[in-house]
Amino acid sequence: MKALDELIFDNRFARLGDAFSTHVLPEPLDNPRLVVASNAAMALLDLDPAVAETPLFAEIFGGHKLWAEAEPRAMVYSGHQFGGYTPQLGDGRGLLLGEVYNQAGEHWDLHLKGAGQTPYSRMGDGRAVLRSSIREFLASEALHALGIPSSRALCVIGSDTPVWREKQERGAMVLRMARSHIRFGHFEYFYYTKKPEQQKALAEHVLSLHYPECQEQPEPYLAMFRAIVERNAELIAKWQAYGFCHGVMNTDNMSILGITFDFGPFAFLDDFDAHFVCNHSDHEGRYSFSNQVPIGQWNLSALAQALTPFISVEALTEALGLYLPLYQANYLDLMRRRLGLTSAEDDDQKLVERLLKLMQNSGVDYTLFFRRLGDESAALAVAKLRDDFVDLAGFDAWAELYKARVERDGDYSEEQRRERMHAVNPLYILRNYLAQNAITAAESGDYSEVRRLHEVLSKPFEEQAGMEQYAQRPPDWGKHLEISCSS
Ligand code: AMP
Ligand code: MG
Repeated sequence: MKALDELIFDNRFARLGDAFSTHVLPEPLDNPRLVVASNAAMALLDLDPAVAETPLFAEIFGGHKLWAEAEPRAMVYSGHQFGGYTPQLGDGRGLLLGEVYNQAGEHWDLHLKGAGQTPYSRMGDGRAVLRSSIREFLASEALHALGIPSSRALCVIGSDTPVWREKQERGAMVLRMARSHIRFGHFEYFYYTKKPEQQKALAEHVLSLHYPECQEQPEPYLAMFRAIVERNAELIAKWQAYGFCHGVMNTDNMSILGITFDFGPFAFLDDFDAHFVCNHSDHEGRYSFSNQVPIGQWNLSALAQALTPFISVEALTEALGLYLPLYQANYLDLMRRRLGLTSAEDDDQKLVERLLKLMQNSGVDYTLFFRRLGDESAALAVAKLRDDFVDLAGFDAWAELYKARVERDGDYSEEQRRERMHAVNPLYILRNYLAQNAITAAESGDYSEVRRLHEVLSKPFEEQAGMEQYAQRPPDWGKHLEISCSS
């Protein structure tokens, strides 16, 4: 276990030089204090969890102090936002403090979000509010616990610094961790500004640090692009299978590692709704739940365009063609498991589609349906779940197909079925209204609810005593919370 001053830095991105990022110091918050910390994320840095409670911790992650070896940098990138190209974005309110490596030899970027203005702030104040910092913290750690690749969050630091959004709020910082903060938009920036040397240096950096296995391939850059396609297909299959809606899938928010990245107005589905748009400002529904699948491909093709100086268009097109079949295979595999199936049959896709249509028409809770389906035998479970559906004849027909399918799948006990299904069907997810309750309490200085919710969500598949209230459908007020980009 390490103390805070024992972290070991190796700032590889900073060494790429000033064409890639700018040195900026964090702007401290007034009266910084710990809101919540993740022990699991602390463990990735070999940090003793007790250090989170020390004044030094809040001072460092509230922007007051820095390690001598940290080299805080604002990264430059660009990206396609809602389909249109924005030539320059960059870290407008976050700083890459440095890269730390742990005892296992893993490098982790430490990125402080809400750290003040940078050359890339445009009209922004460089700040993040407590509300959005808590949402990012809870979501990153909850996704990780669900087995969905995501950036991680070490802590949220609250403060007395006033920040103006629609109303006055308080500034906060979230310490985000990822193996890399490089986005599709990094490659787009050097492509559209016609800087082939820097673009090559960036590609070499990503290749050697994050895709070393591709260096052995005859065309390393193409192999790397293929791997990025694969990882994104797997990621989006997981989002779709677990009902996660990202909300702002601009190419500057897409990670070259295929992890969930840059949390804004995201949401987990409560009732199943394929057309759900979680971002109140997304009037055309570009990033609706079901559109995430084709948008994943659209974003990869924007990255492919930026890689045309290195890879032929034919090869890029062929690699892009892997996306949809890979997505479908991964998605179907996850949905089979969610239904408790251990084998594959040709009609499984239809079985899933029919179920989702019925859930859509009846507004069935997406998470609880699968959890309850695993509570007992298929016959008993569908008999109980039937009441949630409006189209009873439709559901009965589906239930007959499902029971017959389960029968063909294998001869296992109810206990085996429950164990297997509960291991993939969470009881607890980060519902918007749960986050909102925690935020309301935190805004009045009570951090206990954020901490409790974080704890519950860190074991989403395990039924936890006394935590029934976290496994309920939302109350009426919590169903249609409006979440915008203003964070
Ligand atoms: P986002 O919507 O959070 O992905 O941000 C898009 C771009 O706007 C990025 O370049 C951010 O750094 C920048 N940005 C967002 N909010 C702020 C802010 N309050 N101050 C400065 N820049 C911001
Ligand atoms: Mg962003």
